[in-house]
Amino acid sequence: MFFETDALVIKATKSINNDLFLTLFSLKAGKIEVVANGAKSSKSQLSACSKPFVFGHFVLNTRSKVMRIVSCEIHASNFRIADQLETLAYGNYFLELCGLTTHSNVVEVNHYQLIIEIISILSTKTVDFDLLRATYLIKLSELTGHKPNLSPVCTSCGQLAETFYLSISEGGLTCGDCSKDGFKLNLKWLKIIEYLMNKDVRIISNTKIHPNYTQQLVKIFESFLMFHLNIKEIKSNDFLAAIK
Ligand SMILES: [Zn+2]
Repeated sequence: MFFETDALVIKATKSINNDLFLTLFSLKAGKIEVVANGAKSSKSQLSACSKPFVFGHFVLNTRSKVMRIVSCEIHASNFRIADQLETLAYGNYFLELCGLTTHSNVVEVNHYQLIIEIISILSTKTVDFDLLRATYLIKLSELTGHKPNLSPVCTSCGQLAETFYLSISEGGLTCGDCSKDGFKLNLKWLKIIEYLMNKDVRIISNTKIHPNYTQQLVKIFESFLMFHLNIKEIKSNDFLAAIK
């Protein structure tokens, strides 16, 4: 039996022989584990497509326990991401986060389209990395079903306010009278979050937002996702911290 799908390679793990085990985020089957027989050898036809960031059309043999790649037609190798430490560090972060926030064999078309677009942007244009990172984290809060309640009313007393505290654990805004637990935000912050939540990532990538906002939003939404999705560690953060 054969199964065909477009997919992004989000992880490659070496085995003891010449095979590579890949994690694909696919259009038709969500996150799947596959094996590329012999792909560790540069002579193998599968070696070019068995690298993280490759976006292609995969034909898989489903007969064995772990699906085997029969062939792959590369749409975009996104090889430029590995050319620079900075793009590589952010690229690794995006792929790791994608793996951490998806479930095996669950189709997630919106998330799939988003990560394909983010990797393509990272590979092909000059971009504000923290803006891209904040955008992915904010959109992920919605895609994973943990979007915080951002209407400018206190979730505790119902009063309208100018300044709020976003509680990571509660996922809602409270006024300063009710609780000062969490990150302090005003209406301008809420507008920026709404913008990053709703606009297309390609449009956002052409927007300028001050790093004071993007860096803080990264902190807020990373803590937010890690708490709600029970993520203990994002390993690629070490590499990101090392190059900054
Ligand atoms: Zn209140």
